[in-house]
Amino acid sequence: MSTQLRFRDLPMARESLASVTAVGTDGAVATDATLFYPQGGGQPGDSGVFITADGRCLTVHDTRKGEGDEVWHYLDPEHGLTVGQSVTQQIDWPRRWAHMRMHTALHLLSVLVPYGVTGGSIGAERGRLDFDLGEASLDKAALTAELKGLVAADHPVSSEWISEAELDARPELVKTMSVAPPRGAGMIRMVRIGDIDYQPCGGTHVTSTAQIGALHVVSIKNRGARNRRITLAWDEATEGQA
Ligand SMILES: [Zn+2]
Repeated sequence: MSTQLRFRDLPMARESLASVTAVGTDGAVATDATLFYPQGGGQPGDSGVFITADGRCLTVHDTRKGEGDEVWHYLDPEHGLTVGQSVTQQIDWPRRWAHMRMHTALHLLSVLVPYGVTGGSIGAERGRLDFDLGEASLDKAALTAELKGLVAADHPVSSEWISEAELDARPELVKTMSVAPPRGAGMIRMVRIGDIDYQPCGGTHVTSTAQIGALHVVSIKNRGARNRRITLAWDEATEGQA
């Protein structure tokens, strides 16, 4: 059974009601709808809690995709939930908020480094993208200053859907070489950041770039002859270490 992906249209929602549709092995529980983002596109799966009608608070350790749009939440195996039961889903918001901020920051990085993206990863503390940079070189301090400029400019972030045919006619919109854009039912989800970025993405984002906050380029490292790995981190996390 497919799960309604509420995190797509309600990226700022932290709590919602859902109904259990399937109970799997290893503590897996699927629901008819979810705010929990399932691991994908370099972004970790959400954690949080399910609260039952009789007040039990069950920890959700991870969230993964199943078949199609089905989403599985991983709880302790003795969760006791059964099909048809209602639960209040609460996301671990500080963690998700950090993922959303870092994810959106990586979109900005892809604007400033206009080369093919060969890989990436999003964490609550750090995020990185690998670029097929060839012979080009980058300056850490200059890139940090440009990144802070795009954050401060407070560009709005929004999403929309276009047809697969429309995307196929404009292959330049796809920046990520290693991950195919999320497809389904002939439609592609596009994420727009002001007039600076427009690319297919199924992840969660903040609604304006100022929400990203203060961050900087930690390192630019060689990953083979052509690839460079650029890692970002929050300014506050490095305070006191310098
Ligand atoms: Zn994205």
